[in-house]
Amino acid sequence: MPLIINDVYPKKLFREDGKRLDGRENNEIRPIKMKVGVISNADGSAYLEWGNNKIYAAVYGPREVHPHHLAKPDKGILRVFYRMATFSVFERKRPAPGRREKEISMIITDCLEPVLFLELYPGTAFEVFIEVMDADGGTRCASTTVAALALADAGVPMRSLVSAVAVGKIDGQLITDLSGIEDKAGEADLPCAITWFNEELSLLQFDGDMDLDELNESLANAKTALNEILQIQLKALKSKYTTILEEQEGGES
Ligand code: UDP
Repeated sequence: MPLIINDVYPKKLFREDGKRLDGRENNEIRPIKMKVGVISNADGSAYLEWGNNKIYAAVYGPREVHPHHLAKPDKGILRVFYRMATFSVFERKRPAPGRREKEISMIITDCLEPVLFLELYPGTAFEVFIEVMDADGGTRCASTTVAALALADAGVPMRSLVSAVAVGKIDGQLITDLSGIEDKAGEADLPCAITWFNEELSLLQFDGDMDLDELNESLANAKTALNEILQIQLKALKSKYTTILEEQEGGES
């Protein structure tokens, strides 16, 4: 049963023992699992479970641009389609893509574009379809992370991976990786993404209230979490190839 019903939030976001409502320490990220190569009809794909979030990403391209007028003669384009399934949230979501989904699609495009060599693919498009099957806060960050993994799985040349996480503040304390309830009932939410090749933030949004020292500390917390997330992405990518090797070796013996 969700903790938020009819927009009534719990008064406290920390338990008596000082832990967060889901039992985490302030700077602990939720459990994350990632797998690549999960959709056979896509050029590349990935699946992610991040706490209660469950998200698929599928990549196609480089391929012809439809509608044609969107094609650019001097470079390729990246198109991202973030969608939330109607059953992915407690209150039914309208099936048609809304303003929020269009905004998040645009944000994820901006996060991923810097790592691609679009200038090498004039007149074509890379398309990334993201389907959120279950949502519990931080889906734009989780989607960016899984989309980068799907692009890598598709063999698209990339300067580096991209990882993302939200940090923020609840009940006066700084925390890492906000859950849905912390996102809604907390004081501040800062989704960030990093492009690893230059270690620059390709996403920094800010919703809420915190002072400059808290902002600096939050960004340092984000960097630690982003490093953890990168390791999980790399492990997911490598495990596809180690599994293939193990299967081949098993077949030969
Ligand atoms: N959410 C919802 N209904 C909606 C949109 C969002 O219940 O129509 C929930 C969902 O769990 C989402 C959370 O609110 O993860 C926070 O949404 P936000 O727009 O802040 O984006 P996110 O944190 O997912 O990137």
